[in-house]
Amino acid sequence: MGAELEQLEIIADYINTHDRRMRYEGDPGVEILEGVNDLRSWLLEYGFIHDLDSVTEVDLTLARELRSSLRAAIPYNPHDPKDDDFQTLNRIAGQFRFFYRFGEMSDVMESVEEQGKGGLARLLILVFRLRENNLWSRLRVCTAADCQWVFVDRSRPGTGKWCSMKACGNRAKNKTYRERAKSMG
Ligand SMILES: [Zn+2]
Repeated sequence: MGAELEQLEIIADYINTHDRRMRYEGDPGVEILEGVNDLRSWLLEYGFIHDLDSVTEVDLTLARELRSSLRAAIPYNPHDPKDDDFQTLNRIAGQFRFFYRFGEMSDVMESVEEQGKGGLARLLILVFRLRENNLWSRLRVCTAADCQWVFVDRSRPGTGKWCSMKACGNRAKNKTYRERAKSMG
């Protein structure tokens, strides 16, 4: 399972390219995919595209839409409106074409799309594989509203609520403690 969780880390990293951690009150977070070159570097880093592939503004818009719909599809996400029946995600996935190739050793699903869009299609294939292998539920978003960091839950029961027990977990506990102390006057 370890290697597959590493693959899930890629999806977490992708969703975290919109870093929602608040550094001050009202902080909108950090957009890492600011321009086409940012998306290009990200896709290249994880081998979703080749060196010579180009990435367009259309790909960038699609990439951001895909990203927010993947975030909404994280189980137990208290921050985003639930994507009922994966309507948004399905609408976006419907814009990609795939094909299935039989092989001697194993069969593979491949992207019909090329260039930047092909990279996003390969990312979707990875999502598909992870879901098929029941690993999707290990993808979590930190329940702290001022964090919302997406992480892979490696705990045995798989019920982690915070990206880090040390930081966000303790912060939440202290807050509860303070509120309880306050209400007790
Ligand atoms: Zn957190």
